[in-house]
Amino acid sequence: MKTKAAVLRNVGGPLIFEELEIPKLGKGQVLVKILFSGLCRSNINEIKGRKGADFIPHLTGHEASAVVMEIGEGVTKVQVDDYVVCSWIKGNGLEAPSVRYQSDKDVVNAGACSTFTEYAVISENRLIKIPKKIYSVYASLLGCAIPTGSGIVDHYSMKGNQKLAVFGIGGVGASALLRAVSLGMDCVAFDVVPWKLQWATKELGVKTAHPDGFFENNYKNFFDFSIECSGNKSAMEYSFMSVKTSGTAIIAGNLKPGETISIDPWQLMLGKTIDASGGWDSFLDDDVPFYVSLYLNDLLPIGKLITKVYSFYQINESIRDLEEGKLIRGIVKI
Ligand SMILES: [Zn+2]
Repeated sequence: MKTKAAVLRNVGGPLIFEELEIPKLGKGQVLVKILFSGLCRSNINEIKGRKGADFIPHLTGHEASAVVMEIGEGVTKVQVDDYVVCSWIKGNGLEAPSVRYQSDKDVVNAGACSTFTEYAVISENRLIKIPKKIYSVYASLLGCAIPTGSGIVDHYSMKGNQKLAVFGIGGVGASALLRAVSLGMDCVAFDVVPWKLQWATKELGVKTAHPDGFFENNYKNFFDFSIECSGNKSAMEYSFMSVKTSGTAIIAGNLKPGETISIDPWQLMLGKTIDASGGWDSFLDDDVPFYVSLYLNDLLPIGKLITKVYSFYQINESIRDLEEGKLIRGIVKI
């Protein structure tokens, strides 16, 4: 059986459409039909060569909604026809080795969960069944954006009476804001892109500021928590400055390799904490059911994160739009 896939063949892209042969399912593997796949900044980092050129040709994409077509030996967590979320985040179930798809000229590597393909072989522990009543476009966000962004708010046990600063209104930052707002936190969202500031005010009802207004608004030592999601050096430094001496600054963005930030260590002595989160504190089988229940009880309007839905053939356009700051989250209909 073959599948149409968007393959990374050269550092920098574009992704190239190819027919790949789907390997026979091994132990712990599941064949799914992908419905919608989200586009994450870490996919861009892969395309731009952050993992080096050695892993090319490669199949990327790591959050999706899907339907189970076939299960491999030992799989008990999902059944054929189940409606599932596919995620890079691990949960219960067997961990299957990375997948190798055969093209007409070579072997294309994929991870345990690679989703820019019509049919995908996914490791059992990267899947979780969800109720069919969740719109499949929204469900794709449960694979990364929601557990990594909203997950930071919950994993740090943030409370409704606390103040939160979010630097960078992209998929993860907006997802964190969405959850913080649902808890009743007092939030300020920082970004340099005017339409994103307007979006956060209109859609999430939070206060917003351009980083240039940081000092004039007295945001130094002001917040209980800050989350930095922009991958920008000065935003990271502001993020640390912005929290109270009892507060915690959480870094979720990435700088270019070798780039560093500078902070005042005396602030650490006074009691500030700086920490990092990349979604690795998430566990699929805990987090997805939790956010599903919030969504079904109208407490987490996850669809607000979606700026645009693209066809599969527009995947390179969606990547460009993400790079150019035109999206909160873009979704590709596979
Ligand atoms: Zn992601």
